[in-house]
Amino acid sequence: MTSSRAAMRSIAAAAIAMMAWPIGGKAVAAPQNGTVGTVGTIVVYFIDHQLLPESEVETLRGEVVQIFGGAGLAVEWTLADSPRRRLEHNELRLIILPSDGTRWFHGPSNVIGIAPHDDTGTGRNCFVFYRQAIWFRQQAVFRCREAIQARAAAELRGVEVDPFVDSLAPEDCGERLASLTAMIVARAAAHEMVHILLNKLDHSPDGLMRSSFDLADWFDADPERFRLGDDEIQQLVELLGSSSPEPAR
Ligand SMILES: [Zn+2]
Repeated sequence: MTSSRAAMRSIAAAAIAMMAWPIGGKAVAAPQNGTVGTVGTIVVYFIDHQLLPESEVETLRGEVVQIFGGAGLAVEWTLADSPRRRLEHNELRLIILPSDGTRWFHGPSNVIGIAPHDDTGTGRNCFVFYRQAIWFRQQAVFRCREAIQARAAAELRGVEVDPFVDSLAPEDCGERLASLTAMIVARAAAHEMVHILLNKLDHSPDGLMRSSFDLADWFDADPERFRLGDDEIQQLVELLGSSSPEPAR
């Protein structure tokens, strides 16, 4: 798309033009990698004000699918659109905003995502602040680069690498950086989605629903750090099990 054409379109229309898969209210089947038997479906209306590249959207969708697949829940995506009606209990809007949270919600600047609630429950909208995900990745880049340089310097001098360097970033940190922003967005999104789906504000001591993610988490290859806990799985299955069952063919 040329920039002049882009300038003449609304943000939503520009987002549509950047997506390569079917759009316009048509549901797109999610990849099913690693899911146990599907017991229900979460419907996500994905509104991307950041105009993310297709590859990044694919990565973040894949991770969200993995997380909820652990509870036997499939994720159905509708891109750049959402119904003008009250959403059902298995539906929500996931909105990616280019700014940080201070601008929109006057909250602290280190918030990656938010699931606003009011007295009547949730508006079924959750927001991820892309600028904050970029900030996180940038901190990871600094750490990774510092660790690579320290290891190279130690090797040149023929000395042992200081153990501090390993705490800074693992040797393979560079391999994680390419997909890191999308993974941060995905995990923040999944966290906020659970707040919406279960209509709860409280957090768990560990896993996806802990109250904050730490910089060191992003270099940890263990996906368990971002998975649902047994309690959350049970609650989600109770609430959403048998939602949108597969039509008989
Ligand atoms: Zn939270």
